[in-house]
Amino acid sequence: MTKYKRILLKLSGESLMGNQSFGIDPERLADYARQIKEVHAMGIQIGIVIGGGNIFRGLSGTSKGFDRVKGDQMGMCATVINSLALSSALEASGVKTKVLTAIRMEPIGEFYSKWKAIEAMESGYICIFSAGTGSPYFTTDTGSSLRGIEIEADVMLKGTRVDGIYTADPEKDPTATKFDQITFDEIYARNLKVMDLTATTMCKENHLPIYVFNMDIVGNLKRVIDGEPIGTLVH
Ligand code: UDP
Repeated sequence: MTKYKRILLKLSGESLMGNQSFGIDPERLADYARQIKEVHAMGIQIGIVIGGGNIFRGLSGTSKGFDRVKGDQMGMCATVINSLALSSALEASGVKTKVLTAIRMEPIGEFYSKWKAIEAMESGYICIFSAGTGSPYFTTDTGSSLRGIEIEADVMLKGTRVDGIYTADPEKDPTATKFDQITFDEIYARNLKVMDLTATTMCKENHLPIYVFNMDIVGNLKRVIDGEPIGTLVH
């Protein structure tokens, strides 16, 4: 028996860059696809939300003169590009996927609905939820909280490039220590930047636990599914 039956996996767009400074690193993409395929083969139902920060972020666009709403729409389109790339890599490895979009854009993807997603996951498809929430001023972290809650996932697995949540940023503060688990309230009290507050609060209010782990180490996704304590559980 595995720990989870249905998961929502959140991947950042930035991590898709690998060692590049922009865009999609095919090796990183293939690594992710292999890891996802591995846990799919264990019978886990998988929904994925992928960010767009490797291509465009609305907020950083405003400093360059972009209208915020148009910038956010560009960001949402960027998540669709990444979702198609991941879908393509997964399909190439023999896994069936469905790209669902929060904004209508057939034939690129089908328009999202909870029931379409659940039916597809139960039939063995991996669902990739693209275009975030479909609305500006949100992030893909909030998109993934929303989709995770809607599809009744057991957990949101937040794949990052650090191995969990620390008392301070471990890339800046060498004295930072890692939590094995932490409550939502403690995240607020310590002002920890795990996700934006909208995303965190949605998970708290709807009882969706979050597991933060390092997805850039090949095999880690399976370790999390196997219950190995390699990251930080937020509950
Ligand atoms: N975005 C949005 N609404 C959403 C999700 C995303 O407007 O519901 C836009 C926003 O501009 C954001 C960009 O898409 O900056 C890319 O998403 P995000 O920054 O979350 O990507 P990540 O940091 O995970 O790569």
